[in-house]
Amino acid sequence: MSTVIVSQDEILRYNSILAYLKNEISARAEEKGRTLTYFIRTYGCQLNEADSEKLAGVFQDIGLIEAEENEAPDFLLLNTCTIRENADVRLFGNLGMYKTWKIQNPDMFIAVCGCMMKQQENVDKIKKSFPFVDACFGPADIHLFPSILEKKLNQRKRVFSISEEDYLVEDNCIPVKRKRKFRALVPIMYGCNNFCTYCVVPYTRGRERSRESGMILKQLEELASQGYQEVMLLGQNVNSYGKDREEEISFAELLEKAARIKGFSRIRFMTSHPKDISDEVIYTMQKYPNIERHLHLPMQSGSDRILKNMNRHYDQAQFLKTALKFRECLPDATLTTDIIVGFPGETEEDFQQTLEVIKKCKFDSAFTFQYSKRPGTKAASMPDQIPQDIVTERFGRLLELQNELTFESNRSVIGTTEEILIEGRSATAYNILTGRTRSNRLVNFSIPEGIKYQGKVIDTSDPSFDANQFEGVLAMVKLTGARPFSVEGELESFIDG
Ligand code: SF4
Repeated sequence: MSTVIVSQDEILRYNSILAYLKNEISARAEEKGRTLTYFIRTYGCQLNEADSEKLAGVFQDIGLIEAEENEAPDFLLLNTCTIRENADVRLFGNLGMYKTWKIQNPDMFIAVCGCMMKQQENVDKIKKSFPFVDACFGPADIHLFPSILEKKLNQRKRVFSISEEDYLVEDNCIPVKRKRKFRALVPIMYGCNNFCTYCVVPYTRGRERSRESGMILKQLEELASQGYQEVMLLGQNVNSYGKDREEEISFAELLEKAARIKGFSRIRFMTSHPKDISDEVIYTMQKYPNIERHLHLPMQSGSDRILKNMNRHYDQAQFLKTALKFRECLPDATLTTDIIVGFPGETEEDFQQTLEVIKKCKFDSAFTFQYSKRPGTKAASMPDQIPQDIVTERFGRLLELQNELTFESNRSVIGTTEEILIEGRSATAYNILTGRTRSNRLVNFSIPEGIKYQGKVIDTSDPSFDANQFEGVLAMVKLTGARPFSVEGELESFIDG
């Protein structure tokens, strides 16, 4: 595979198709006597979320409106992920249900995109067994979406567009419909060069391609001027940002330039690879309070032998050095991780090493996974696959330890008052707000009587009260109680409200 740079001019050429699509959609809407709708179902990581925001941008631009999750839309897109176990079983099962929708509305457009489309067997299966699917395209082909739609609507043929190339798209001029009004997802690089032996991402998303820093910073300035409070810099391995470019720039330098842009109250980044994170990144975090007080550092295992077999290119000592340096430099920040239990060949002693590192790092939370084979990866054919009962038993012990540490971490902030970026109403009650601290801790909090917002006292018993009106607002919240995976609090005041 080779990297192909797609210039802004080229994107604008694809975007010129949007005018044709707008006319076509408007004619169809007139025929049906209603506005046409779309829905995108997104699986997997934040990069897929960012891709879906671009695809939604195209749909909105051509005059469609978003359908409710469970109603049949006129245009349905499934943005797939290969990370989770049995992703193919789930996808093909869901497609069966969507067939019923298509029978009821034969004009319905159904497309499948994302990482699963880089696995030829999945594309072949759709071609042969799911003739009602109108289009398939890969994660590198997002910018081609207007032309894929045009081909389908104009020529009424099925479209399969799975590029072999690793496109590097300067995507400042692709329309984007952001899911959250306060958060902008900004990919700074695509792909991964690491080939961890359990992971399919380098095969589905290609080699590392960093975007030009000038284009990223221009985009960030525009987002800040549009009022976004939070920006999330995305890449599979952000710490190797710039290594593939001629311009000399590191991730720490890009982060510093981003932090100097006026307007964002929070700058986040995801994901860091322990082998590539530099001390400069930690110092930059220390220097700029608008960079989130949180580092996600995926450890995967604490055993040198397993880390080597995973092809992670660091050992326990190196991981601990980085983690403890971060703890020392930013004592008020949170440190989170990913851990895989039951990787092929993992012994009880290896597992004990993992538990030891967890105890030393005291992770504030962790995404924990039971190892499962991913077809096409090296680890899938390794000897000594661990029997499921052993994996389950170790996983139980791991959860017990980590859950206690997470709870302890949540207890440690009780009594403090923190700045919260409100995300909306909580999942449990209409009058409880939810948001995150600067260290990415989840907080659910109540609004005591007498609190004012924009000069008016808030009345949560008023039938017109809508907690979601506070999405994107900053507030000071007193943290009053710890839950195993979140913190409870009470609103003290709104900032600028
Ligand atoms: S760093 Fe490893 S786990 Fe992460 S995307 Fe790359 S290959 Fe996969």
